[in-house]
Amino acid sequence: MNIIKRKFDTLVIGAGGAGLRAALQLSQADAKVAVVSKVFPTRSHTVAAQGGMNAALGNVTPDNWHWHMYDTVKGSDYLGDQDAIEYMCRAAPNTVIELEHFGVPFSRLENGHIYQRPFGGQSQNFGGDQAARTCAAADRTGHAMLHSLYQQNIRAKTHFFDEFFAVDLLKNEVGDVLGAIAYDIETSEKIIIEAKTTLIATGGAGQLFRTNTNASINTGDGMAMALRAGIPLQDMEFFQFHPTGVAGKGMLITEGVRGEGGYLINCDGERFMERYAPHAKDLASRDVVSRAIAIEIREGRGCGTKKDHVLLKLDHLGSDVIKKRLPGIRDTSLTFLGIDPIEEPIPVFPTAHYTMGGIPTNLYGEVVVPAGTGGEEVIPGLYAAGECACASVHGANRLGGNSLLDIVVFGRAAGNHIIDYLKTHHYHLILPDDSIDEALARLERWEKVDSKQGDAPDSQELSEQSSDQANNNHETYTVSELKAELKQVMEEKCGVFRTEDVLAEGVQQVKEIKEKLSHAYITDHSLVFNTARVEALELENLIEIGLATVISALARKESRGAHSRIDYEKRDDESWMKHSLYYMKNNSLFYKPVRTKALTVETFPPKERVY
Ligand SMILES: Cc1cc2nc3c(=O)[nH]c(=O)nc-3n(C[C@H](O)[C@H](O)[C@H](O)COP(=O)(O)OP(=O)(O)OC[C@H]3O[C@@H](n4cnc5c(N)ncnc54)[C@H](O)[C@@H]3O)c2cc1C
Repeated sequence: MNIIKRKFDTLVIGAGGAGLRAALQLSQADAKVAVVSKVFPTRSHTVAAQGGMNAALGNVTPDNWHWHMYDTVKGSDYLGDQDAIEYMCRAAPNTVIELEHFGVPFSRLENGHIYQRPFGGQSQNFGGDQAARTCAAADRTGHAMLHSLYQQNIRAKTHFFDEFFAVDLLKNEVGDVLGAIAYDIETSEKIIIEAKTTLIATGGAGQLFRTNTNASINTGDGMAMALRAGIPLQDMEFFQFHPTGVAGKGMLITEGVRGEGGYLINCDGERFMERYAPHAKDLASRDVVSRAIAIEIREGRGCGTKKDHVLLKLDHLGSDVIKKRLPGIRDTSLTFLGIDPIEEPIPVFPTAHYTMGGIPTNLYGEVVVPAGTGGEEVIPGLYAAGECACASVHGANRLGGNSLLDIVVFGRAAGNHIIDYLKTHHYHLILPDDSIDEALARLERWEKVDSKQGDAPDSQELSEQSSDQANNNHETYTVSELKAELKQVMEEKCGVFRTEDVLAEGVQQVKEIKEKLSHAYITDHSLVFNTARVEALELENLIEIGLATVISALARKESRGAHSRIDYEKRDDESWMKHSLYYMKNNSLFYKPVRTKALTVETFPPKERVY
């Protein structure tokens, strides 16, 4: 088969904040870099980030990186690796200054310094008064960051493959990763991108859940590629539910609203967070606030005719503050609810938001896996950064404002490490002829179905496509039906509160959906640019991520951070202070210890987490 081949020093899969920050570092060092993105780079999901990015600049309240580190370790429910957390928090102030120099228009204080707002889980002096640590560009911080990073990359001559869908990693027989195969969404042409180093920066998998804050592109593709390449995913049971999604719809209302002084009320008008977190109140960490809302509703104190949401009140902030600091939120509320928050509270409910787990990496973004001899080994030439990676700085619960920080700190670190790697790895390794066979088979499976021009294939045709040749009486399904089913199952079986029975049902149902996928077809051929085929490939990926999530959740018999088991209410440090590693092969789980030793400071030992 004649497939176009291109060669680069580094292939970056993903053009969000993590991918672009790494690519910039590399292009500025004159490496030959290709960035592949399934959407135009500035449409990557980072563009949607609202509230801001944490750094202990101390512009509004006294602050230092060590306090930031303490809050992050505590926020992670002691599952975050303390060396990685120290590295990130120490790097934060310089990272913000660097972004400012790249052109990010941060909001300003009267004195000209960068504006910082309070966010959940932030404290001064190791758990004292509320800190204001989140640097913001109004409530459109991600937009400002992504556009600045893209422009800097254009200037540095990074090569972009826009609207190309990366299908799978390419490997040789000893497991070196040698690039990826991608698919031009406009023309369906396939392309092999060979690279000495590959960085996966494909973002999170919020589309796993029916109600979520994520863009439709967040389908966990890079994580699924890693799984298929034999790499495990770490801590997948920890999925963050953001407390304030627009009720019934899911769009995010940033924590910045509560940072600016907004607060939650129940049907009695009670500011209920005072009962759950007497000190931090509405700025307790996200897992705590999400659970509190779910309990209020469960106990009948929800609002509206169905009593199925609570209210976020911000009218008392006044129209000037709302228009200046929260203009995007006002837009969202007006557009999707017809409610002007200057006058009325916004109905909110927890919504799936952030993938804490991901591809395991060290501090330099290198992908690390358990070694046969015990301990860990890196996969030479393979890196991951951003929401698809697990460095692990967020542990069991991410603090708001720490993801934008994570993506630029570890994107940059990966870029720097790759520069060093390239100094000693001058040549491309030989790509075996059969390295693309599996990926091609996946693509062709959807090409065949696609060629039916929208008709459901008859059972004879399906039996030919299915591995189960003997049985031609299968029901058939559309890709979109199965996707909706998966999202519903994940929401119902793996949500804010979890139990053994419900999770076990979830595992069974996701496995059944995987089975049904071999009898699925694409219907919507009016879609141009092969997007229906891309949706099918994304569904394959989502199903693998769904299995990783629900299987890891079933196995963890404790409550920690975002993983809240009704049947195991307490955190169990003795048995469970460890990271899970899920392998696709046999759906198996392994565990590895949390790195509690920090780089230069004392370890923060686990203690009860109160806000
Ligand atoms: C609504 C919202 C608001 C948020 N606000 C904040 C905030 O205020 N502060 C904060 O710290 N965090 C915030 N977050 C979280 C944060 O925005 C994300 O975690 C972060 O931006 C992820 O960046 P990323 O670079 O890892 O991935 P993304 O920005 O998601 O980029 C992923 C890239 O991968 C590409 N890609 C994916 N799959 C493929 C494929 N198969 N082939 C080719 N390309 C592919 C995409 O095209 C895209 O370019 C928010 C999240 C949401 C949903």
